[in-house]
Amino acid sequence: MEDLTQSVTSLRQKYREIFKTSATEIQKRIDEIKPQGVVDIFDKYPAGSRGEIWQKSVLKMFDEDICKEIYRKWSEILAYKNEFSCIGCGTCCKLACSEFSPEQLKVKSKKNDRFAAQFLSVFVPYNSKEEARAIYPEYIKMLDDNKEDEVYFYHCPKLNDCNRCMDYENRPQICRDFPDNPLALLPKSCGYVKWKEEVEPVALMLHAMLEIIDYYKEHINANLNRA
Ligand code: SF4
Ligand code: SF4
Repeated sequence: MEDLTQSVTSLRQKYREIFKTSATEIQKRIDEIKPQGVVDIFDKYPAGSRGEIWQKSVLKMFDEDICKEIYRKWSEILAYKNEFSCIGCGTCCKLACSEFSPEQLKVKSKKNDRFAAQFLSVFVPYNSKEEARAIYPEYIKMLDDNKEDEVYFYHCPKLNDCNRCMDYENRPQICRDFPDNPLALLPKSCGYVKWKEEVEPVALMLHAMLEIIDYYKEHINANLNRA
């Protein structure tokens, strides 16, 4: 049996290591443009001071340099997915998970959440977790092992007994886009597993960098706004 718990543990471990390396790299870029006489990027500096100019330059570097590069690489990763294809195993149609219940999705949909609206237009909830377990036991075991918060299980009634979509030409965008993220867990049977394996290290790095940059931006902006 495929051990997804082990896969998740190993992914988290890889992410922690990549996160540390990325944090060091970003700090290095910040220090490269650090003027003399200032100490910490998170300090509060007077308006017009070298410290404040440094903080603004760092924010500019994030937006105009590093983030642009991150989004460019992310687009490349998604474009590379086109080299691979769905092999029709049907698993993503038979089991879709959400942290939201059908009622919560309806509320989100009414508030113009397009993903929630599309999700509800495709998937219906399973009556029990055991029905979902019968489809993909390894996945449900992984959720149990990781004591994940409440997860709701859904399936699409348009999949026929031969694992074929009965409305393939009109399938919505979320079906066409799947998998839209190489960091998501994919069933072993999925035709995109090779794509995920190849791009995962870079995707992890990009994800880590965005997380680190968000942290910097939030804390620098908090000081700038008070100045
Ligand atoms: S609409 Fe078709 S492709 Fe989309 S989940 Fe249903 S069966 Fe799968
Ligand atoms: S899990 Fe992958 S291979 Fe299977 S139906 Fe979905 S996209 Fe296609």
